[in-house]
Amino acid sequence: MLNETHDPGLSSWLASAQAPDCDFPVQNLPFAVFRRRGSSESFRGGVALGDQIVDLSALASAGVLDGEAQRAALAGSQTKLNALMALGPVAWSALRLALSRALRVGSRLQAAIEPLLVPQAQAEYDVPAHIGDYTDFYTSIHHATQIGRLFRPDNPLLPNYKWVPIGYHGRSSSIVVSGQGFHRPVGQTMPPGAAQPSVGPCKRLDIELELGIFMGAGNALGESIPIDAAESHVFGLCLLNDWSARDIQAWEYQPLGPFLAKSFATTVSPWIVTLEALAPYRLPFTRPADDPQPLPYLDSAVNREGGALDIRLEVALQTPRMREAGHGAAAICRTSYRHAYWTLAQLVAHHTVNGCNLQPGDLLGSGTLSGPTPQEAGALIELTGGGKQPLTLPSGEQRVFLEDGDLVSLRGWCERPGAARIGMGECTGTVLPAREVRVR
Ligand code: CA
Repeated sequence: MLNETHDPGLSSWLASAQAPDCDFPVQNLPFAVFRRRGSSESFRGGVALGDQIVDLSALASAGVLDGEAQRAALAGSQTKLNALMALGPVAWSALRLALSRALRVGSRLQAAIEPLLVPQAQAEYDVPAHIGDYTDFYTSIHHATQIGRLFRPDNPLLPNYKWVPIGYHGRSSSIVVSGQGFHRPVGQTMPPGAAQPSVGPCKRLDIELELGIFMGAGNALGESIPIDAAESHVFGLCLLNDWSARDIQAWEYQPLGPFLAKSFATTVSPWIVTLEALAPYRLPFTRPADDPQPLPYLDSAVNREGGALDIRLEVALQTPRMREAGHGAAAICRTSYRHAYWTLAQLVAHHTVNGCNLQPGDLLGSGTLSGPTPQEAGALIELTGGGKQPLTLPSGEQRVFLEDGDLVSLRGWCERPGAARIGMGECTGTVLPAREVRVR
């Protein structure tokens, strides 16, 4: 699984890639689509290195790569990454190796590539793929139990949870890229004790700390993807905030699950970290001895040996008052993807077991990634005990749910002795005031 591109001793000729807290050292090489901010340039694929972006379109035109790597760079030159995603792991890996060699100290390509760099500080990003379908899973047993406890104190976890990776079909048209604001959703709610429902701005606006899984090559309709092939269909992972209107959700979700409580906005980070880059941070997938072991189609030796990933995750919140005082966002949760009950290979195998076809650029949400302790909860509804225990921020302000002007920032990174530290960048969004309810 590991190769020369993961060598923690590698360094780049670009000085900013060596900064100790840098998300994008030469061992990472994540993909986004970008252009110079405020320009009318076309969006095109880019690869992060330090504080710069390697422009894949310019790189492909420069003709300094060849073979599969050049083919992949050309596919990555388009306005979305779907064509690159469709090529599959041999092409992705060839481009990664070629970039790693070109960007490291001593490369003869330094002089050719340096003029192709665009500073990240001057870039704007777009949603990295045309997302045909978005599926949201529910892979944290800690989240499922805590949320379940709020609704069913005596029976928090439903009996299917330990057998089926639970998911639902989400909405792809309202997925936006980090940095954008969205209006507080308006919807129908049934306040406790009210005689009838009313319509108005959401009062319990929440976050969901998730990872997004971008699919690579898909499967034909009617054919499933076996678990041991599942990861070869995954292009990479991004950060994902699945904003949720808890009061709208509570009224509308029975019996068919979330609808307008989720479909108003979902924010993704611009950068997609490939599975190959994540290889050093794999962990065994284990199940408590008292829990049912996965059914055969969700089980494999490879998945047991290294199907889990230790991706450290953090949620931070900045109120308007903190922003005016010049204070950054304050952390309200830290956890890891390692606590997920189902691995991403299991999600792909389960999603396709009925013959459902996944396509390049499809997005799977992991579901809220709460860890085992209360401080590791990835949603405000858990962090505040169902909205009963407000969080106190460093500014002295309190929050139960999000207020207008609040900015939420997700971060993710991997670190382990004997491996480089790599990061996923940032996924931010700001709550704008609700719009009027129009009746004509
Ligand atoms: Ca979710």
